[in-house]
Amino acid sequence: MVSFVRICFIDRGVDSSTIRTLTAAVTIFRRYHFNKSQTPKIPDPFASVQSTGRNIVAVFWDLDNKPPRSVSPFDAAIRLKKAAESFGAVRYKIAYANQHSFDYVPTEIKEHRRDRRKLNQLENKGVVKPVEPYICRVCGRKFYTNEKLINHFKQIHEREHQKRVSQIESAKGSQRVKLVGKYSMKMEKYKNAARDILTPKVGYGLGDELKRAGYCVSVVSNKPQAADVALRNHMVDMMDRRQMECLILVSDDSDFVEVLKEARLRCLKTVVVGDINNGALKRVSDAAFSWEEIIMGKAKKEAVSVVGRWKDRDILKRLEWTYNHERERKLYGSCSEDDDQNDDMNASNLVSDEVKTDQSRAWWKLESDSDSAVSS
Ligand SMILES: [Zn+2]
Repeated sequence: MVSFVRICFIDRGVDSSTIRTLTAAVTIFRRYHFNKSQTPKIPDPFASVQSTGRNIVAVFWDLDNKPPRSVSPFDAAIRLKKAAESFGAVRYKIAYANQHSFDYVPTEIKEHRRDRRKLNQLENKGVVKPVEPYICRVCGRKFYTNEKLINHFKQIHEREHQKRVSQIESAKGSQRVKLVGKYSMKMEKYKNAARDILTPKVGYGLGDELKRAGYCVSVVSNKPQAADVALRNHMVDMMDRRQMECLILVSDDSDFVEVLKEARLRCLKTVVVGDINNGALKRVSDAAFSWEEIIMGKAKKEAVSVVGRWKDRDILKRLEWTYNHERERKLYGSCSEDDDQNDDMNASNLVSDEVKTDQSRAWWKLESDSDSAVSS
């Protein structure tokens, strides 16, 4: 059979690499006959991985369920991204929450703000003196009380910033582009300084911080489950478009069990970040981490073995094929050791009823019929 295939390809001028690959495949499977019509059904979940060389990762963050707690939102977002990078190329970082989550201020931050106010009062009275002066990060001026710095910042830099913003907003076309270019550095500097000095009017800057970390943040209505539904739809949509090979979900919400199962059916790799040990989500995913492991950077080490397992699975998957003994026996008679010599006879034996009904033939017979089968 091997020699038959070789001759058949050489005659038609197929390039040598194709022959090498096919000869290797034939050598592995030479004891078995398999049906061409079945081969496309064997899923190759990593086909696109091989073409890109890296696993495309999408992170979905259910902010309503798992808001960043122990560290700042920006810090948490960056650490999550770093952990995700150990699974492949992180191309999508998506976070959903309702307005409540963005308005909400965690107790730690409330306490911190209260302490700061008390300290400000003491500084104003002269009871407490800061070890080092407060420095304005825009102009570099020094202040000996925090409140003076805040007043200075609001009176000078906040006004300047608002002027620039309104100037840009009122400009159009090339004028606008020019202004954006002209002010971009100054505005960036202002934003960085304002983050530490000014208190956000609502919430604690969750949305802005995540956007700064490169996440695509979406706000949904305050209806219960609105964020879950939006997240699920987004995941399914991306699965349909085959935009990712690995799905990382940050949530403890068991409502996501079905979507994770769906992802596995579609041969996606799944990772869950949550705090419920042996939770429903963790049971249906390939790997699971606690939020703390992500923050501490422990997930990165663990990811190496997970990726190793995936590679093994990848190899096994590619070696898998469907073999239906009864059907093959009908088509080709018994698969004994001396079948190799009878292959040519089997080729002419393709007029059985079953072949007529499902249009299937021996795969090498198909090759000689169409060129497309060779190049595919
Ligand atoms: Zn200043």
